[in-house]
Amino acid sequence: MRKISLIPTLAHGAHPLADAAVQRRQLAEVPIPRFAAKLSEVGAGPLRAAPRIEVLQINVGRRCNQTCLHCHVDAGPDRTEVMADDVMDACLRFIEHAAIPTLDITGGAPEMHPAFATLVRRARALGCHVIDRCNLTITGLPNYAYLPAFLAEQQVEVIASLPHYALETTDAQRGAGVFAESLAALQRFNAVGYGQPAGPTLNLITNPLGGSLPAPQAQLEAEWRHELMVRYGISFTRLYTLTNMPISRFLAQLVAQGELTAYMQLLVEAFNPGTVAGLMCRNTLSVGWDGRLYDCDFNQMLAMALPQTIFEVTPEDLAERTIRVGSHCYACTAASGST
Ligand code: SF4
Repeated sequence: MRKISLIPTLAHGAHPLADAAVQRRQLAEVPIPRFAAKLSEVGAGPLRAAPRIEVLQINVGRRCNQTCLHCHVDAGPDRTEVMADDVMDACLRFIEHAAIPTLDITGGAPEMHPAFATLVRRARALGCHVIDRCNLTITGLPNYAYLPAFLAEQQVEVIASLPHYALETTDAQRGAGVFAESLAALQRFNAVGYGQPAGPTLNLITNPLGGSLPAPQAQLEAEWRHELMVRYGISFTRLYTLTNMPISRFLAQLVAQGELTAYMQLLVEAFNPGTVAGLMCRNTLSVGWDGRLYDCDFNQMLAMALPQTIFEVTPEDLAERTIRVGSHCYACTAASGST
């Protein structure tokens, strides 16, 4: 594997924005309408969860082999947070008890958790559909070469981040060397059937390089399908677009460049009430590495915790709960939506 260039995480560099409370304050100071008020204005507030949880998304730790510029987790090789066995056991008990259809495993690079393969097997044995949020390059490291074949055997859906099908954009966002390694990884996934018509699902996620909105998803998907096939012989299932979330490392970038207010105003201007019904937080429960609960992975990184932990929560506690919102939520409701 080629060497991937890394940047220090905010946590490692003792950056003030490594503190979630500082991030929340910084966002609250931006002069835009409060998200809760915006929802009420269009008759969609307060934002409430659906009666039933469909997806348990668990963040198994913040370790990663990459340090992407936009990472909302501030993940990297220097992070040490990792989900303990008893938290993982409690997640699986909750899945069984609440008959959760989907387990969505994220990180960091979730595959770096020592019990990743065990977790996948146990969730599949419970009949769960399992999603692995994969950064692709992890499969090029010697200890993780088993992943494509293992994930295919377990029929795990892979959702992989790739900013662009061109080298410059991808390496600018995710570190020099990432593009070539990502292509090699996609070819490995294709070789075991991923992204083929009857094979397991390989979805890609793209996000813009800086403070702009992604282009319409359908238009990009057609373009990406053509370019990745013609240039590299790579196929995939679906392409999703993601709006950059103004928290953590992307927030630090916006602040450093004096672009935070302009970016937030862009998100507010693009507010689309039609996205509210499909927001991820409405049918998802997010679990942190330490067992705390959140409405979504973004709220998790802003430390906007629910009162219960995975050890004592019941599905009844969570049905139709009021979702905790903030200015960052405008990233999920901009244009065609992004969750
Ligand atoms: S950040 Fe998005 S998914 Fe999370 S609570 Fe806000 S709207 Fe919901």
